[in-house]
Amino acid sequence: MPKILIPVFADQLSHNLSSLALSDPEDSVVLMMEVKGEANNVPHHKTKLVFLFSAMRHFAQELEEQGWSVRYVKLTDKENTGSFKGEIKRALKRDKSIETIRVCEPSEYCVLEDVKSWEKDLNITVSITHDDRFIATKEEFAEWAEGRKQFRMEYFYREMRRKTELLMDGDDPEGGKWNYDKDNRKPPKKGLDFPGPLKAKPDAITQDVIDMVESEFESRLGKTDHFFYAVDREGALSALDYFLKESLEKFGDYQDAMVSDEAFLFHSLLSPYLNAGLLSPLEICEAIEEAYKSGKAPLNAAEGYIRQIIGWREYVRGIYWLKMPDYRTENYLEAELDLPDFYWTGETDMHCLSQAITQTLDYAYAHHIQRLMVTGNFALLVGVDPFAVHEWYLSVYLDAFEWVELPNTLGMSQFGDGGLLGSKPYASSGSYINRMSDYCKDCEYNVKDRIGEKACPFNALYWHFMHRNEEKLRSNNRLAMPYRNWDKMDEDVKEALIKQGENFIASLKPSRAKSYL
Ligand code: FAD
Ligand code: SF4
Repeated sequence: MPKILIPVFADQLSHNLSSLALSDPEDSVVLMMEVKGEANNVPHHKTKLVFLFSAMRHFAQELEEQGWSVRYVKLTDKENTGSFKGEIKRALKRDKSIETIRVCEPSEYCVLEDVKSWEKDLNITVSITHDDRFIATKEEFAEWAEGRKQFRMEYFYREMRRKTELLMDGDDPEGGKWNYDKDNRKPPKKGLDFPGPLKAKPDAITQDVIDMVESEFESRLGKTDHFFYAVDREGALSALDYFLKESLEKFGDYQDAMVSDEAFLFHSLLSPYLNAGLLSPLEICEAIEEAYKSGKAPLNAAEGYIRQIIGWREYVRGIYWLKMPDYRTENYLEAELDLPDFYWTGETDMHCLSQAITQTLDYAYAHHIQRLMVTGNFALLVGVDPFAVHEWYLSVYLDAFEWVELPNTLGMSQFGDGGLLGSKPYASSGSYINRMSDYCKDCEYNVKDRIGEKACPFNALYWHFMHRNEEKLRSNNRLAMPYRNWDKMDEDVKEALIKQGENFIASLKPSRAKSYL
């Protein structure tokens, strides 16, 4: 008769999860729940739903093989109440011997709040175990942040390098420098051969989930006919191995590049596995370090990759927990526009946006620079409400969980936190996209023009943004140069740019996001 109930959420698919490690299969029962409440909080992409439900089902099967008793609630089970609390209540009713719920702390604020309410609402002891799958604890981050007026990832990252001893040469960074980002900004050159992603063939479990998602979430974005992501630890390990062999060497050089009809370039596609718990950050970084040490990858690639994981990933998590729940509604620039509807369809004649959005709809994937400098930059320039931008990113990406998505979107990309996470808005005209991609040559617009019907919209929008937000941004040292350029412009040019930006913004059709739910 089980005494302990162990709920395991969709992003806790780690066999060494603290709640499992502290328990014994002899007197415990694991509960896994597919619930509509979570699947419907935003219109999640079909690919994301397939990935998570299938990965959960595979994980449950593995637990059973290891001797755990698992109660698995499928989305279509008749009795499914649609919420975590409802399912916990049902489980307690069924297994009357349960005395304690032992749950690893959830990664998202609202789920943690829900878990905290179980003890009182369900009249049962709830023990929340520490999530030790991250490098920094929430407390460590809060201590690091204490008393700092500005947070900068670079300083936090150095602490994490020292803590993990990754790429360290005694007390010094390997190669003498902490950061090789300057070597990681090569534009794409002709003739690059991209390996493409490792494709896993859907097994019977995944096929069942695909059928369920197609029937239960018919109106959602995305296609399931070419689903190729791994859904278990073995598959995730193969994806890691594939990245080390096929892409890591060139990852650093072309990390920021964008190429038409090439969604993946030399990126790893490991974030979904990492965020769902199928891989751990440290095991990935150790494998990367090993590739560098054995001469299989250059330092700029290894350091660049490790920085994303022990630097950015941990840093955004720290900010999320430090600033929630208010962080979600911050809107420093008071941006209020609806998200343009083409974010849900990819139907726009701006080639860069059409490329980034279409591949997002096809694969639930876009790489960092597409998210930041194409879709994010455009939303920032036209003044979309950061909350609406956040909901879109949370919906469409396979790796999107609020703790990592929100600070990246609202903070880094939309400057909604006024510069807490990053020192300046990632706003740019078309010239950045032109430098880092081959998009502009296939576009209806001319990236060199600022004014006129065929002028690249990013150009006038950039100045519209700078002008519109002048009161809040002029004092930012990092924006001194563009404001000097603005001051030097003739008044009639300024007026024409503002008018062009205004007309363009007025022409955008608002989002029909609700119809995708
Ligand atoms: P690679 O380019 O191969 O990078 C390596 C790994 O580093 C990634 O797998 C990821 O785990 C980590 N990483 C890189 N940058 C970041 C970052 N800024 N924050 C956290 N981890 C990082 N990442 C998510 O995991 N989930 C999200 O919901 C998410 N939303 C984003 C929204 C916006 C607006 C922006 C600008 C970035 C977002 N990112 C998010 C960060 C980054 O874009 C993705 O981690 C990356 O594109 C995932 O693809 P990949 O695995 O091929 O990454
Ligand atoms: Fe994008 Fe402008 Fe280039 Fe077209 S010209 S692809 S809109 S940056």
